Amino acid sequence: MILPNFAYIRPRSLKEAIQHLSSEGSRIHAGGTDLLGCLRDDVFSAKKVVSLGHLRELREIRLTKEGGVQIGALVSITEVVNSKAIQERYPALAKAAAEVASPQLRNQGTLGGNLCQKPRCWYYRGEFHCLRKGGDKCFAAKGENAYHGIFGSGGICYIVHPSDVAPVLVAFEATARVVGPKGTRWVPLEKFHVLPGEDPQKETVLRPNEILTEILLPPPTKGIQSSYRKVRARQSWDFALAGVALALQFKEGLVEKARVVLSGAAPVPWRSREAEKVLTGKRLNADTTAQAAEAAVKSAEPLDQNGYKVPLFRGVIEEELIRIAKT
Ligand SMILES: Cc1cc2nc3c(=O)[nH]c(=O)nc-3n(C[C@H](O)[C@H](O)[C@H](O)COP(=O)(O)OP(=O)(O)OC[C@H]3O[C@@H](n4cnc5c(N)ncnc54)[C@H](O)[C@@H]3O)c2cc1C
Ligand code: SF4
Repeated sequence: MILPNFAYIRPRSLKEAIQHLSSEGSRIHAGGTDLLGCLRDDVFSAKKVVSLGHLRELREIRLTKEGGVQIGALVSITEVVNSKAIQERYPALAKAAAEVASPQLRNQGTLGGNLCQKPRCWYYRGEFHCLRKGGDKCFAAKGENAYHGIFGSGGICYIVHPSDVAPVLVAFEATARVVGPKGTRWVPLEKFHVLPGEDPQKETVLRPNEILTEILLPPPTKGIQSSYRKVRARQSWDFALAGVALALQFKEGLVEKARVVLSGAAPVPWRSREAEKVLTGKRLNADTTAQAAEAAVKSAEPLDQNGYKVPLFRGVIEEELIRIAKT
C-alpha cells in the first residue's frame, strides 16, 4: 500500500498549528513512526497532516526551579534515554524509554507520539470495522486475543495501552500540558488515557484540536526507589506482554507510599491500587511482595487465550519488588 493523498503543513508556531488542527480531518505528525503506518494501512484517514517539526520550544528537556523536569513532547525517545537529568532523577523512566522498540524508532519517535500512539490490536490495525473504529463489534472478545488485556475492558474493548513510558510517568505522578484554542490545561498523566467505558473510540482525553506540548515531572522525593520491568514475547523489539512500573517511597525501612502501574495489562496504564494498599506501611519482605503480587491480579478477567498473563504478571511484580527489597 502507498500513502493516500493529504495536505502537509509545517506551522511555525503553536498557535498556527492549533488553527490548522481546527479544520476537520486534521492529524498531528510528530516523528510519524505510528501515524504514517496508520494512514498507509487505512486504519484512519487524514485530509491534512500538521507537522510539529518546526516547533523548537517542544524539543527541550529543562530542569524546573523546584527540582523537577519538563520534557517537551517533541523530545525523542533516545533523548529521554540519554538525558543525565532524567537518569539521575527518574532512572525508571530512562530504563523504560530504552525498552521502547528499536534504536531507529527511538531516534525518530517522540515522547508525545509515544503517549498518543494508537493501539496495536491486530483487528484494529487490520481490515476489521470494530467498535474502536465505529463498528458494532469487538472481534477480539471471541477471536485471537492472546496479546489483549486482562483489566479495564468494561467488556467493550480489550486493547492494551502500548507505551512503555506512560506507566512510569503515571508512577512518578507526572502531568501533561495540553494546549488548544481555549488555552492551556494540565492533566495528571493518570487521567490522560481513556477507558473504553468512557469512550471506546478515544485513547486520550485530547480533543482533535489540542496538542500535548510537554510532560512535567515533580521533583523526586528523598527515599524513593523506582523501576520498570518489561516482559516481551521476543528478545528483539516488541511491545510489553506484561510490565510493571514501581515508585516506592521508603521511610525508616517501611513503604510510606507505593505506586504500582502495569503495562500490557489494560487499555490505559493500569494502576494496581490493590497492590499499593498491601505495600503501604509495610516492610518489603517475602510475605508482602507475594501478597502484593497476588492482590494485583485478583480482579483480572482473562479471555480465552490470554490466561497466561495472570501468573506472568504475578511473577513479574513479585520479582521486581524482591529486586527492590534487596537494593
Ligand atoms: C515496529 C514498532 C515497534 C514499537 N515498539 C514499541 C515498544 O516496544 N514500546 C513502546 O512504548 N512503543 C513502541 N512503538 C511505538 C513507538 O514508540 C511510537 O511509534 C512512537 O513513539 C510514536 O512517536 P512519533 O513521534 O513517531 O509519533 P507519530 O507517529 O507522529 O504520532 C503518533 C500518534 O500520536 C499523535 N501525536 C503525536 N504527537 C502528538 C502530540 N504532541 N500531541 C497530540 N497528539 C500527538 C499523532 O497524531 C498520532 O496519532 C513501536 C512502534 C513500531 C512501529
Ligand atoms: S479489542 Fe478493541 S480495537 Fe480490538 S477488535 Fe476489540 S474493539 Fe476493536
